[in-house]
Parts: sequence; C-alpha cells; structure tokens
Amino acid sequence: MKQVSRQAREQGRVIGFVPTMGALHAGHLALVEKARREASPVIVSIFVNPKQFGPGEDYEKYPRAMESDAKMLREMGVDVLFAPSAEEMYPAGFRTSVSVEGLGDRLEGRVRPGHFRGVATVVLKLLEIVAPRLAYFGRKDAQQARMLAQMASDLALDSEIVVCPIVRESDGLAMSSRNAYLSPGERQAATVLFRALDSARAAVIAGERDPQRLIAAMRGVLAGEPLASPDYVEIVSEDSFEPVARLRGRCLALLAVRLGKTRLLDNLLMEVSDSEVRCTL
Ligand code: AMP
Repeated sequence: MKQVSRQAREQGRVIGFVPTMGALHAGHLALVEKARREASPVIVSIFVNPKQFGPGEDYEKYPRAMESDAKMLREMGVDVLFAPSAEEMYPAGFRTSVSVEGLGDRLEGRVRPGHFRGVATVVLKLLEIVAPRLAYFGRKDAQQARMLAQMASDLALDSEIVVCPIVRESDGLAMSSRNAYLSPGERQAATVLFRALDSARAAVIAGERDPQRLIAAMRGVLAGEPLASPDYVEIVSEDSFEPVARLRGRCLALLAVRLGKTRLLDNLLMEVSDSEVRCTL
C-alpha cells in the first residue's frame, strides 16, 4: 500500500482516502463520491478495528460484507481497496497508542472508555500508510471527526481531515452499519433520534437560544418512544465539545440512544449569529 501511494505522490497526484469498517451504505458512498470529485487516486480502507471496541461490545458480530463491498467500490471507480488483517495492523508486540486529551474523554469517550484511543491509533496508522492529501469522514460521528482534526493539527500531519454531511434514510434515520441490528419495531422507533433533533431545529429557528430548554424538548420527544433509552442528550460548542451556556457560533446537539441492544448516534449542527441562524441535520 505504501509503495502504491508513494508512486501516486511522486506523479504529483492528489490521494483521497476514505477509511471505513465496511458493510457499506449510502453514507460511506457519499464520502467516496466526494473523494472521486476532489482527488485521484481514491483509496478506501475496510478494517474492523478491534482496538476501538470495548469488552462486551459488538466486535465479533459487527456486520462484514467484504465481497459485496468490494464490488460496490469497483463499480464506483475506486482505485484501491485496502483491507488489512488485524494481524497485519497489530502484529504481536504492538505497543503504541494515540490519545487526544480532553476531546476524547467526554460523551462517546466517557460511555466507551478506550474507544477514541483505538480510533486515533488506527487512523494515524492508516494515514501514515496511505499518506493521503485529503481524508474524508462523516459528521454523523462528529466527536470522532473533531478529535481526528485536532490530531492532524497537533501532529502536523500532511492529510487534511474533510468532514462530510450526514446521509439519511427517507424517514430521517441516519444511515449506519449498525442499523442492520434493529428489529422491525426498533427500526420504526429509531426515527425518534431524527424527530428529537428536528424539534430542536424548529425551536432554534423560532428563536430559542437556551440549551437547557432545547435539551428538555429533545428529551421530551425521546421519552415518547418506549423502546428508546438515551445515553446522553447534550449541546456543545463544535470547537471544544464542552457544553455551552447559550447558543452562539457553531454548536452541536448530540444524541446517543439505545434501542434494545443497539446504540445509535445522531446530531444537529447549529450556526447562530446575531443576524443569522442555520441548522443542518
Ligand atoms: P464506519 O464504517 O461506521 O466506521 O464509518 C466510516 C466513515 O463513514 C466515518 O467517517 C463515518 O462518520 C462515515 N459515515 C457513517 N455513516 C454515515 C452517514 N450516515 N452519513 C455520512 N457519513 C457517514
């Protein structure tokens, strides 16, 4: 992989890279399409990273669909599929880990100890191997994207972290490989994340700027769905991922909700100034 990417760089080409865990859906494919428009060659990795799963999480049963994924990527004109094994990525004696202080400890980092350390470690290694100019990530995992942008800046990496919009099903559910775990009843109930965020969006458009009132409104919507139990409902500054006292600048409403055994994430981006307000689901 290093040889292929070195050659492309020597030819002055702009490498675009989309790291994934596979079981590809339209959310992943939107990242690939953007990469295709902005870079060539496009390299996609599929690696279910054991280091970002905690004990008792779904590493073993995480959906794997290598053959159909490879076919899809080939049809989209992806130049290279990089799919290393866990033994190649973490040979016996592997000892290094990367952690982004602060940003990795709250929200997802608190509920899933060690998760972000696993993500940062694998992404830094992938970026070293693939050495892309542009690396594409989804805003669905907003805290992950923010943490990786911080890592890239702190470590003066040559790769730019590009954050892409959330791709949704027609009923608003954010696409995720884990949606495959949902029973039909849970799948229907799962729209509650979108509905909660949409209620916050409507309130912000109507002039609400108090995060506590917005959180209460979202919790109210979530409480109306008996199958859903929220892990957290928070409003943070996009830069620090710390809670804000009042909406201003770029803020995110972040949800993590359990439906049965499945844990789903979603968020709403709110850009608020004196003269303008923009909300992006
Ligand atoms: P994963 O395979 O779940 O690790 O995701 C690989 C990349 O795709 C990550 O950068 C995710 O944030 C991104 N992604 C996953 N789902 C979506 C979605 N619905 N919309 C946009 N990006 C997504």
